[in-house]
Amino acid sequence: MSSSSLKKQENKEVTPGDILAIIEEYDAGEGTYVDLENGVVRAAVAGIVYYDDKAKIVYVKPKKDPLVPRAGSSVIGVVTQVKHDVVILDLVGEVDLHPVPRFKGEFSGRFSGAINVANIADEYVKDIFDYYKLGDIVLARVLNNSNPYHLTTVPPQYGVIYATCSKCGGLLHPINNRSMKCTRCGRIEKRKVSALASSKILSIKIKKGLVVSLS
Ligand SMILES: [Zn+2]
Repeated sequence: MSSSSLKKQENKEVTPGDILAIIEEYDAGEGTYVDLENGVVRAAVAGIVYYDDKAKIVYVKPKKDPLVPRAGSSVIGVVTQVKHDVVILDLVGEVDLHPVPRFKGEFSGRFSGAINVANIADEYVKDIFDYYKLGDIVLARVLNNSNPYHLTTVPPQYGVIYATCSKCGGLLHPINNRSMKCTRCGRIEKRKVSALASSKILSIKIKKGLVVSLS
């Protein structure tokens, strides 16, 4: 190919085999390889192409698959709204429950979830406010594949994993699947408590009211 026909496109998404540069102009950096036969540098991996004009090196930064909620996945959400028939959450990230629960990672974008009153618990829910409150951190299962996501917390492993006392702001400790006790003032509050909350398998680090990491 002629060198004049190759136009450099910074930050372009490339797939393996794509021509990135001619070898006289750029050396092959990470994520690329030299195609001597054609005198070009090609992408070795899928990702974003970068040109270092000082060093005259072209390289490709591999693109990770974006983490988004999927039907069947277990997610962590923060309750942002409780209405009489639905609980609204901001979805933070995904959790792998098997073989042992662990935080898989934060979602690559902002997603919201909704737990319909019928999907809260394996019983008739008379008063939704006895199950979830604003700011609760909830483990839930995703039911569909588009935003906003419908969630369920009916199975015992799903529900509140972290909550604070609505009177004093102290940390609530799980007592059973329907109640939690304030570690500071002793107040008992009703929740739909995840079976994993009491096992302390999922420990959470909180920063400014947001989940920053789980382990
Ligand atoms: Zn309290």
